[in-house]
Amino acid sequence: MSIYGESVTKLIEQFEKLPGIGHKSAQRMAFSVLGGTEQEAEEFAEAILHARKELRYCKICQNMSDRDVCDICSNPARDNGKICVVEEPRDVVAMERAKAFTGRYHVLHGCMSPINGIGPDDIRIKELLARIDGTVTEVITATDPDVEGEATAMYIARLIKPLGVKVTRIAHGVPVGGDLEYVDEVTIARALENRKEL
Ligand SMILES: [Zn+2]
Repeated sequence: MSIYGESVTKLIEQFEKLPGIGHKSAQRMAFSVLGGTEQEAEEFAEAILHARKELRYCKICQNMSDRDVCDICSNPARDNGKICVVEEPRDVVAMERAKAFTGRYHVLHGCMSPINGIGPDDIRIKELLARIDGTVTEVITATDPDVEGEATAMYIARLIKPLGVKVTRIAHGVPVGGDLEYVDEVTIARALENRKEL
């Protein structure tokens, strides 16, 4: 039995499932939602449902988008010659925040991890290969600087270098074992600037 009753407890549990949210924060969020009007609660729930229903992936870069081709891929001002490969959509946000890259992205949706049974076919590497045409001159691997991220970058280099395309790896400065998402803008910009050829 809970103090708040079943429905409130259920709501708290839902918030608790979110990354980085402990029980106390979940409780605060639930009470905040419940403290609003019924219409506000409806708008909140509707926003989640709507975003989920509209969710699709850009058919070029595989980033989350609500259209077939995302804003970055459809922006004619971006450099077609460079593709920056990242693990997650949130990494694109981090890179864009750093304002140091004007090319295109490719989102793998994960990284290779043999221990967890995730191989190259489980992430969007095929889709990356399909993008390598005459216009691409460099693929920048910006996967996380941990064991899996490094292995994924090496795998991509092995596939793409024989096609005559330069493959680089973002430099140190991004802490080893770190998560690109939490790296500050200056560090990202410097890591990109000092990238090395693989
Ligand atoms: Zn795109």
